[in-house]
Amino acid sequence: MTPIPIAIHGAAGRMGQRLVALATEDAELRVAGAVDRAGCPELGRDAGTLAGVKPLGVNVADKLDGTAKVVIDFTTPAATRVVLEACVKNGAALVIGTTCLTPDDHKFIDAAAKKIAVLQAPNMSLGVNLLFALAAQVAKQLGDDYDIEIVESHHRFKKDAPSGTALGIAQAICDATGKDIVKDVVHGRHGDDTTRKRGEIGMHALRVGDVVGDHTVTFGAPGERLELSHYASTRDVFARGALRAAKWLAGKKPGRYQMKDVLGL
Ligand code: NAD
Repeated sequence: MTPIPIAIHGAAGRMGQRLVALATEDAELRVAGAVDRAGCPELGRDAGTLAGVKPLGVNVADKLDGTAKVVIDFTTPAATRVVLEACVKNGAALVIGTTCLTPDDHKFIDAAAKKIAVLQAPNMSLGVNLLFALAAQVAKQLGDDYDIEIVESHHRFKKDAPSGTALGIAQAICDATGKDIVKDVVHGRHGDDTTRKRGEIGMHALRVGDVVGDHTVTFGAPGERLELSHYASTRDVFARGALRAAKWLAGKKPGRYQMKDVLGL
């Protein structure tokens, strides 16, 4: 089988380098492009050497060329918009791992997805995407007699809170139960009158040490508690999930896809 040519957008970043490194170990993929921002000190360097693997003969460039069939983006929301336009121009599919996307960014992605295949996921780990489905199923079956609390832990440097993944769990539960992520989610509790209301979803963020990403959803009623937990110990799970998504997306017709499509959920 001819390997699928892919390009990594954000190739000099933490995720970008792991994507390049892991893709070189995958016989079904070929790194055909590596792109980072104009002014990035790593421009011109061999992407493989930069990622700590063998030289690939692909230098980090500041623009995408048309050689990749699938592009994988782990950058910033502004850069994601730029690469979306380039992918539409080149007819390439796009896997978006970049987080903190606004509703406007999502509209931009929807418009591009009319022309190319786009898969966007705030967490590319296969385990986390199964957790989304399991949490939704449990919430639906237990109903509002069971309280739902989501607790996430991340390293001390993480800027946003709660994590995109914790919000993804809340959204999956809301989609399954008809709840509203704005009205029904309570972020943290503090003060004299914080008694839990029936049906609310509690959301809590811990920032400690070097935690890669832990998420637990607790369902509780008088007499019992059920917990679903996922622990990521290496960022490679996100890169491996993105590479699996890229293989799945290659050749798909235009549209907006999710990791649950990759997993067949
Ligand atoms: P990072 O800062 O290490 O890397 C980002 C890279 O993007 C940098 O090399 C930067 O120079 C580059 N970049 C910025 N602007 C650019 C532009 N205009 N054009 C091209 N490249 C540009 O960050 P990271 O830890 O690799 O994370 C990147 C993104 O991926 C973040 O949004 C993060 O939250 C997200 N992320 C998502 C998942 C997931 O599973 N979906 C997992 C981990 C990280």
